[in-house]
Amino acid sequence: MRIYSDEMKNELQHVKCNACGRNILVENGIVKEGLCSCLEKFGYFSNKDGQIHRFDLCESCYDEIIKKFNIPVEIEESNEIV
Ligand SMILES: [Zn+2]
Repeated sequence: MRIYSDEMKNELQHVKCNACGRNILVENGIVKEGLCSCLEKFGYFSNKDGQIHRFDLCESCYDEIIKKFNIPVEIEESNEIV
């Protein structure tokens, strides 16, 4: 869950992990630890047509959730430093 300090959502103030509720470290609007941010816009063939779902997970909650997958997450190396 993201909390911004302005209505235009330009300046990120806080991020909370939706799973455990822990505050993610944010300094000067920049997330300073591992974070998985998901945004899904459900379409016509879903039961959530027109809904946009968004959540954030800290790295440890992300790790716990992906452990339950039957098929592992696809992992590749990124050349960009995020
Ligand atoms: Zn968490």
